[in-house]
Amino acid sequence: MNGAVVTVGAELLAGRTADTNATWLCRQLHDRGVTVERVTTVPDRVGDIARVVNEYRAEYDAVVVTGGLGPTHDDVTMAGIAAAFGRSLERSDEALTWLTEEGGYTREELTTGTADLPRGARPLHNEVGVAPGAVVESVYVLPGVPQEMKTMFELVADEFTGQPLFREVVVADEPESALVGRLEELRAEFDVTVGSYPGDGVRISIESADEDLTEAAAAWVRERVEEHDSEPPS
Ligand code: ATP
Ligand code: MG
Repeated sequence: MNGAVVTVGAELLAGRTADTNATWLCRQLHDRGVTVERVTTVPDRVGDIARVVNEYRAEYDAVVVTGGLGPTHDDVTMAGIAAAFGRSLERSDEALTWLTEEGGYTREELTTGTADLPRGARPLHNEVGVAPGAVVESVYVLPGVPQEMKTMFELVADEFTGQPLFREVVVADEPESALVGRLEELRAEFDVTVGSYPGDGVRISIESADEDLTEAAAAWVRERVEEHDSEPPS
């Protein structure tokens, strides 16, 4: 399975909020064996959201969108999703019933528009906040507030499946340029995905769907590089 992540919000594009939702979602999806092919941030504009979601739902198996739920003027994500599918935005009786029966809100307390979802969407209840999320075909729409987003993702996590990958990290205490030849040899020798990430030492990441192969490749590297003292970060 492959997928894309779309985060919505002017505050992300202005650099006022770090896009931790994208990173968290990429990690969750990747750990479930989903290959994430795109991460895109768009402003709170219906047309921009609709355009990107439409492109990605045609291209990838699943699209996860976060941010911009709720009834305030800058919360237009559901309208963007509805536009992407050519559907209307309608009050979801199922979402409204959950909010009043399980969420503890009265209908008077709920601002108009709170339970509006694209027609035919499957509502996702918000156990931490108010605004419901939704699933429309292969598009999953989650809130922007990180704790709300994470809790809601758990409701659908099992729907994201793929080939789990095994990963080993070796941290080399050598300049990256000095490693080029050995990394080339590694890739020729083993059918694994190799990443090289310089920072405090060079993190050499080795990944494949075959656990033994991954371990053998990592052992091969360990025998051939000067290892850094510190523990590799996960
Ligand atoms: P609610 O469900 O409460 O209505 P929302 O879906 O409308 O939330 P936003 O209004 O987009 O969410 O964002 C609410 C807050 O969540 C932002 O002020 C920001 O602090 C945080 N937030 C939004 N998007 C992200 C993101 N991609 N990464 C990290 N934090 C985010
Ligand atoms: Mg909001």
